[in-house]
Amino acid sequence: MEVELSVGMDVRSALKQVFGFDKFRGNQEEIIQNLMSGKNTFVIMPTGAGKSLCYQLPAIVQEGTAIVISPLIALMKNQVDLLNGVGVNAQFLNSTLTKSEMTRVKKEVLAGEVKLLYVAPESLTKAENISFLKTALISFVAIDEAHCISEWGHDFRPEYRRIRSIIDMLGNLPIIALTATATPKVQQDIQRNLTMEEASIFKSSFRRFNLFYEVRPKVNAKKQLMRYILNNKGKGGIIYCLSRKRTEEIAEFLRVNGIKALPYHAGLDPHTRMRNQEQFLREDCDVMVATIAFGMGIDKPDVRFVIHFDTPKSLEGYYQETGRAGRDGLPSECLMFFSYADIDKLEKFNKDKSVTERDNAKLLLQEMTDFADFSVCRVRQVLHYFGEYMEKDCNNCDNCQKPLPKYQIEKEAVLALETIRQTGERFAIQHIADVCAGVENDYVVSYSHNKLDIFGKGSNQTVKWWYSVIRQISINGLISKDLENFGALRVSPEGSKFLSAPYPINISKDHDFSAEQMDIEQDADEKESIKGNAYDGELFELLKGLRKKVGKDKNLPPYVIFSDVALEEMATVYPTTEQDLTQITGVGQGKATKFGQAFVELIAKYVKENDIEAEFDVVIKTTGDKSRTKIQIIQQIDRKLDLDEIKDSRKISMQELLQEIEMICFSGTKLNLNYYMDSILDEDRQDEIMDYFLKAESDDIALALSEFDGEYTEEELRLVRVKFFSEFGN
Ligand code: ADP
Ligand code: MG
Repeated sequence: MEVELSVGMDVRSALKQVFGFDKFRGNQEEIIQNLMSGKNTFVIMPTGAGKSLCYQLPAIVQEGTAIVISPLIALMKNQVDLLNGVGVNAQFLNSTLTKSEMTRVKKEVLAGEVKLLYVAPESLTKAENISFLKTALISFVAIDEAHCISEWGHDFRPEYRRIRSIIDMLGNLPIIALTATATPKVQQDIQRNLTMEEASIFKSSFRRFNLFYEVRPKVNAKKQLMRYILNNKGKGGIIYCLSRKRTEEIAEFLRVNGIKALPYHAGLDPHTRMRNQEQFLREDCDVMVATIAFGMGIDKPDVRFVIHFDTPKSLEGYYQETGRAGRDGLPSECLMFFSYADIDKLEKFNKDKSVTERDNAKLLLQEMTDFADFSVCRVRQVLHYFGEYMEKDCNNCDNCQKPLPKYQIEKEAVLALETIRQTGERFAIQHIADVCAGVENDYVVSYSHNKLDIFGKGSNQTVKWWYSVIRQISINGLISKDLENFGALRVSPEGSKFLSAPYPINISKDHDFSAEQMDIEQDADEKESIKGNAYDGELFELLKGLRKKVGKDKNLPPYVIFSDVALEEMATVYPTTEQDLTQITGVGQGKATKFGQAFVELIAKYVKENDIEAEFDVVIKTTGDKSRTKIQIIQQIDRKLDLDEIKDSRKISMQELLQEIEMICFSGTKLNLNYYMDSILDEDRQDEIMDYFLKAESDDIALALSEFDGEYTEEELRLVRVKFFSEFGN
């Protein structure tokens, strides 16, 4: 497609000619006019609103090259490709370019051919690039994802802080900063850091009417997840996890259970990452299980759900991530699993940070916890966080649809506001709550706040209660936060009015997400909890009897059939199908098929006769730990690799490799190690050990060692045991 582009063309016809759009969206036109009149411009618009156009169009119609600073190379490439596709000369300058490519790009910029030059902040700070840019004609500078400037944002990039000083070296250029998330504090940080306090601000509401918000306790989370996905089968969604390992584990777990799921994280090689992303975009994959590395700049309109499997570390990041659902405007859901344990874990991650960073991170986590705990309309809470006030509740979140009891307060609100005033409007929420409840800690005493007449006036309630109430009247607009003095509470004008003429205020009871409070069964993922439990002794004895009989029939020692641990677990969770059975520790598909039938029949009969409600309402196959490692080892053994070679390639000791092999074998997978055995032990000797295991009471290695009195090494005995299990057990 050949488009006749010319400098000076008006933006409206460029919109049509270049991008094929008939009209501007939202504030786009005003933003573009503002920037083109040479003014600094600050755009805060939700994801998908069309921020890119706000700098692309002015760049196209103006003389010179616009510099676009963007944090991710993948994002840059995507935009550059799109622009080149519509006939606009856009290029990028980053570490992936070869020397000759770099030379070509620079030549084209100097010739005035390049309209947009995308630059990573790291490249921008390089001396050679700065001196080159000084010689070019630059139209303006766009800073995309500008929240990266602020430590208070969810994606802080230290290099972003140097942008201003570099722009200054290039001359007096207009700046446009753009972001999809900015709390008032982050907004202030961005403007201050870019010295553009005077900039025209274009902020649109962050409210997304089509998204349903829900927070659930993280109890039995895998089962809940499976149930949710089965209920939404065929729909596309993203599951966010905190660690790379976890994304792989959950993706594997879903795949084993028949869901088309793939992992995505920064640790995958670029090729795999790209392929997984494309499969998701092309709908060959329904569920993307990702770290937060996934999603920025991804334009998939029909993501029907976003699930946070792990509790996220900031409300800002969370809202941004959920914003990837339902860009097409159709109803979509955002589900978060919340646990205090996750919050504790996140807090531990911050241990090595500097004091300020740690304090910041802690406050962000507190906001997250409050969001989950409070039974106030979720959307109202998030928007409050972003500095927006909502007249009415959303009626499209769990808190609105299943409200917890509400009650009214009046004199308590007066006390809270009085406390804020009397302490000089200089203190954060925790301190105010302490003073109201009458907590005499060192901090309170050091300010002599225990001497105030309001001190402890609310001691009939707990500190936690006061904390919640103060938060809620803050969301109601009676209290404002001082941004300079992060967290310091002030009585707002609305609050002053209230003090002179108090009225009743509705307060919601809080959620309590601690597991013991929840009326939900404990996590079946945690096998330990099952193991520790008392099992059904009667069933256990029956199973043992059956095992003995089967052993006799097959001429095998009972322990080869199923271990005691496996029987105990069966007597706890009552598997009644072969598929259920494969979830029992140490029972793989092989074992289940070979020996399972009689056992599940016995259990089914027992369950029926004793009126037991079986645990397996949703059948979930577990993937086991480190399933990837196991699969790779199985493949290596299939290829008949020497064990030494395998252990070296995996960088583990022989001891560790043996353990892996045993785990694979004991969970029911047949392993053919003969090729290796034959190289270390002659056939007769192997037979001797095999014979021993066939007759032995137990498969204990220590016992075997002493029986043979040092004739064989532990390694040899263990390997033959694997062979034995593979031949007879699996
Ligand atoms: P943001 O950066 O705000 O998240 P993008 O700039 O990536 O959003 O734009 C999101 C989508 O909206 C893109 O597919 C873009 O082509 C489209 N878009 C932007 N402006 C318009 C417009 N005026 N008319 C129609 N589509 C638009
Ligand atoms: Mg964007």
